[in-house]
Amino acid sequence: MKQVAIIGAGITGLYAAWRLQKSGYDVAIFEARDRIGGRILTKTLSYEGQAYAFDLGPTWYWPESESLMTKLVENLELPTLVQATAGTMMLERSPGQVEQHQLPDGQTVLSHRLVNGMESVPNALAGKLAPDTIRLSHRITTILKKKQIELTIEHQGRQTQQSFDHVLLTVPPRIASQFTWFPELPESVHRQLDETPTWMAGQAKVVVVYETPFWRKTDRSGFAISWSGILQEIHDASPLTGPGTLFGFFRLTASERKAFSEAELKQQAVAQMTRLFGEEAGHPIAVFYQDWANEPETATIADADPLTDFPAYRPILLDEPWREHVTLLGTESDSTFGGHLEGALQSVERWLSEQSI
Ligand SMILES: Cc1cc2nc3c(=O)[nH]c(=O)nc-3n(C[C@H](O)[C@H](O)[C@H](O)COP(=O)(O)OP(=O)(O)OC[C@H]3O[C@@H](n4cnc5c(N)ncnc54)[C@H](O)[C@@H]3O)c2cc1C
Repeated sequence: MKQVAIIGAGITGLYAAWRLQKSGYDVAIFEARDRIGGRILTKTLSYEGQAYAFDLGPTWYWPESESLMTKLVENLELPTLVQATAGTMMLERSPGQVEQHQLPDGQTVLSHRLVNGMESVPNALAGKLAPDTIRLSHRITTILKKKQIELTIEHQGRQTQQSFDHVLLTVPPRIASQFTWFPELPESVHRQLDETPTWMAGQAKVVVVYETPFWRKTDRSGFAISWSGILQEIHDASPLTGPGTLFGFFRLTASERKAFSEAELKQQAVAQMTRLFGEEAGHPIAVFYQDWANEPETATIADADPLTDFPAYRPILLDEPWREHVTLLGTESDSTFGGHLEGALQSVERWLSEQSI
């Protein structure tokens, strides 16, 4: 194996490229979007002369159980903060019926965030790669088995072909199923790819920024559960200093969200936060919204259906003639931490150790 193509510059693709280049491999990453990170997305707000980072994709990793993420963050020397959980939680049983509860000690699992947002992980990894490793806005459409593996790459309306000894496919399985494969993948493999939900692909996130984390004055943690509002779960996402921030995951499904404009969804989210945290929550300085179901590089139509359970993820193996030359990696292929950032890293380490790299 000499030349390796990696499809996708999410955390899986970037981490795999870094590990492979350290071992002397020639690696190229093809990324369909015009940015790196995939499901990791951080927005920056300039407020009173300072920049603050807010995550619209993943927010946390869990140092007590996630060894690779913890080691990577330490290795990259990225500043972290502990998720704020002190204080009471709010429960909205129905609109207007709001209760305040003290969670028993030890109820919350310690999670960490990154001071400069989760995007600092892909940014730092990209900074460690050889120049020109990443080709943004390069979309793979076709995978053809010849002596090597020939990829068809779409860039600025033009299609070109390039061949590699090995291809690491780090796109979500349902996206991989949409590629054109020559020879065609067996029906059973397509079925396994199609039946593997992309974690959080049907979700949307709203981040509401305030001048201060005012809820802490009244011993509230910023954590809320709602059985009735458009948001089902709210957490404190405040930076270490400066503005206060709350973020919410939606109860509305992807199809239900389509009935509203982005402005209406933001306005309803702020109204719900006001019901939960009081009048001060009605005056944000910024509101960010990201609907992952609208992103064709992440979600397919099948991802619009809400998940009823945590999916049982596992490695997806390709048969001959692909097995030796194309490997599916990514968080959806890890049976222990699948769905999480840790699962993405574990999928890479598992494959590297199988290859004795
Ligand atoms: C709202 C939300 C909240 C989350 N919260 C957490 C959390 O708190 N903690 C946690 O651990 N995890 C969380 N996750 C999950 C986490 O984001 C994922 O596990 C992780 O980012 C997956 O990385 P990946 O590289 O495997 O896949 P992706 O990030 O999906 O990367 C795949 C890449 O392939 C690219 N691609 C797609 N099609 C093509 C093509 N045709 N050609 C070339 N490139 C292509 C995509 O653009 C993308 O960059 C969350 C996810 C979301 C959406």
